Formats: sequence, structure tokens, C-alpha cells
Amino acid sequence: MLELHDYKEKIDGLLQNYIPSQISNPVEEALYTPKSIFSLSRKEADEYKFKAIKHAFKHHYENNSFYRDMCKENEISPDDIKNVDDFVKIPRLPHHFFKDYPSGRDFAIWLTNLMSTEIPEIVIKGKKPSYDDVIEYFQEAGITVCYSSGTTGKFTFIPRDKKTYKMGQYAIARCAIEMLSHWYDYDSNAYLLFPNPKKTNIYVGKVTNVLFDLVKDVDVAIDRKITTELLRISMGVTFTFREKMMSKIARTATKKMNENMVLRIMKWLEEMDKKNERILFAGAPFILNMVMERLMESGITYDFGEKGAVLTGGGWKIYEEKRMPVEEFRKKVKEILGIPPENCLDLYAMVEGNGFMVHCPEGHYLHIPTTYLHPLVLDENDEPVGYGEEGKFAFLDSIALSYPGFIVTGDKVRIHERCPACNREGPVLEPEVERIKGEEIRGCAEEMRRILMEG
Ligand SMILES: [Zn+2]
Repeated sequence: MLELHDYKEKIDGLLQNYIPSQISNPVEEALYTPKSIFSLSRKEADEYKFKAIKHAFKHHYENNSFYRDMCKENEISPDDIKNVDDFVKIPRLPHHFFKDYPSGRDFAIWLTNLMSTEIPEIVIKGKKPSYDDVIEYFQEAGITVCYSSGTTGKFTFIPRDKKTYKMGQYAIARCAIEMLSHWYDYDSNAYLLFPNPKKTNIYVGKVTNVLFDLVKDVDVAIDRKITTELLRISMGVTFTFREKMMSKIARTATKKMNENMVLRIMKWLEEMDKKNERILFAGAPFILNMVMERLMESGITYDFGEKGAVLTGGGWKIYEEKRMPVEEFRKKVKEILGIPPENCLDLYAMVEGNGFMVHCPEGHYLHIPTTYLHPLVLDENDEPVGYGEEGKFAFLDSIALSYPGFIVTGDKVRIHERCPACNREGPVLEPEVERIKGEEIRGCAEEMRRILMEG
């Protein structure tokens, strides 16, 4: 068991590849230097946060022409931001903005225009490159274009340069392990319930790449290559006869793959139990649910106890609108795997940002990172609402230096000034986040559910 002040030192030792040799700006300072992301005093956290977000705002204002135009229209410049209370004046982009992309070579131009960092030379081959082609050409130039998809086959695309991508991975590791610091030990085995980060650009896959550096061994549930084309076709959004046929074939193949995946995970559990190993499940909750259902049918239970942990992410939409409450899920995990509720946490994040809201073990409220991200909850007119009220979640993310990470989401949240269950400083969200009605269903796990469950 790790004391909180030890956990940073320990994971920093493992994450040297994600940490710059020298801290060169207030954003890096707010992410890499604090001893805690969730437990600093408000005064200390606000100092980091103010400098980081002001730096990011100035950076985008100076380096991104469409964002600067937006600021000029709103008559706001970096000089107007004098304290944290002024953050509300920083112009925000609606999440739809990142879904409104053209195709072919224009897609590459659109991505380039989003970016606020110097763009290396990107060679786009062919007259009509596909989305996956363009993503690959950007990757060759060191820019990771991550995406997630909604139910209509529209994607959200976000370009991250090397620095931003590294900071995002470091941030998820810090945030998740801080809340699991009572459990964390490198000498553990993880099962990643997401696609292999090396074979996809789906954001949940990409950002969890860091897991390979945090524990001694990682198995991956979905090991096939996943592209935007495969996702779209498996969602049933098809444009040609050939694609229609592919969609049918994919559905049949998917059933078999699901079956094999569940069996592999069951076998792994058996082996881990025999060897008395420490285990971590990280990823889409519905995959673990599929496994637990099968274990129940077979009358198998385990007692991993304190040796086990579960970190879910990506939403709970098991059957479209029918969500499984997090509390019920934790009960099931305790019953079937013997893992206690304080080791079963959920994480809320999205492709557009690098904020990782994580359940506290005491009360399972979603804590918001305090040093590098500023949360806002907005009403229908985009005006901030008070603590305890419901509204649209928005955030100012300083880590996003390659694109303006000042974004209004389509998620409905309620924010509290303090956690009702624990002593950590800073605001929290209610344990579960919902989509606003009329916004299409989208969660990091939603696209996974679709390719796995359709058919
Ligand atoms: Zn708490």
C-alpha cells in the first residue's frame, strides 16, 4: 500500500518517457510538479491552474488564427484574464465543432487549421485519401489524430502533437493511480478492455497506452486493427453494396470474436487466481459485465479481495438507453470477483479533452483535476449555473496545446463545491454523467459496444 506522497515518485520513475527533461511552461508545471492532482489546497491548486490556463489561452490566441478571430469577435484578449473568475470570459467551442469535417484532402486542411502548434510537413498521397489514410499521414509526421464516434457514424477528430499526447497519457496515469494509490503496485497484471492502442486511433485505446508502463503485464481484449471505416460499417452506415455485404459479414465474425474474448478473459482469471496474482481490469464496463454474466451462468466466483481492482471508463450504455447503475455494477464485481467497492472506480473523460475525472474510493464522486483544468457548468444560454445545479459540462483544458481545449460538451452534470464523501479539495461531479436529451449517444465505450454487440 502506498501513501499518497509516495505514489507520484513511484509512477514518475516508471513514466520517464512521458516527462520532459525540463519544465518549460506553466502547463507542464501544473501537470508534472504538484504532489497531488486532487488534494492540494484550493489556493495552491488555483495558482497552478491560473498560470496554466492563462498560458494556454495566450498560446492559442497567438498561434491559432480561427481561434483568435473568435476571440476578436468576442472582444476578449489574454490581457482581460486577470484571475480565475475571468476564466468564464474565455471563448469556448461547442463539441459539434469537431464533428463538422470535410473529406479527402480537405480533411487534412481542416485538421491543420484546428492546430495551434507548428505543423511538421505532412505528405498527403493520392487525390482522394480516406479518413484513415489522412490519419496515417499525420501519424507519420508525429501527430496523433484521435477520434470517437457517435451513433450516426459521425466522428469527433482531435489532433494531438507529441507533447500534448504525452501529457494526456501522463495525466490519465496520475489521476487514475492517485485514486487507486491505496491499491497500486507495479507487480500487477492488467486486462485492458479496450482495443489495442497500437492498432487503433480510437481515443480510449490511444490514451490507455500508458497502462503498459504502469504494471508488469497487460493483456488486450480487442486485438484486431480498428479503423474509422470498420467502425462506420459496423454501425451500419454503409454507402455501397460492397460495404453492405461487409457489414453483414462483420456481424457474424463479431459474434465469434466476442465468444472467444470472453473465454480468454475467463481463462486469464482462472490462471491469475491459481497463481495468487494481483489483477486490474481497465476499460469498458460492458465487457467485464459480459464476463461476469458468463461466470454467473457457470456458477464460478472468485475472491481476489484487496489484490484486485477495476477501473472502468467510457460510459454505461449497455443497451442504448438502459444504463446499469454504477452501484449495481460494483455489487456485482464484489459478488463475482470478490473485489471491494473501494477498488472499483469509474473514470469520466472524452476525446476532446485531457481532463480525467475519477471516482474517489470513499464515495464514488467524480473528482475534477484541480491543477490544470477548469470546469464550468452551463445553462441553455451558456451562462454558468451555481453549485448543486444541473447543466451542460464545459471545461478549459490547459494540456491541449495542439488545439484549443476550451470546450462545451453534450453531457449533463451536477457539480458540488466539495465532495460530500471525502476530504479532498475541489469540486466534484455526481457519480454518473448522462448525455443531454437530443444529443446523440456517444461514449468512449459506445463504439466498442457497437462493434462488439451488433448482430
Ligand atoms: Zn470524494
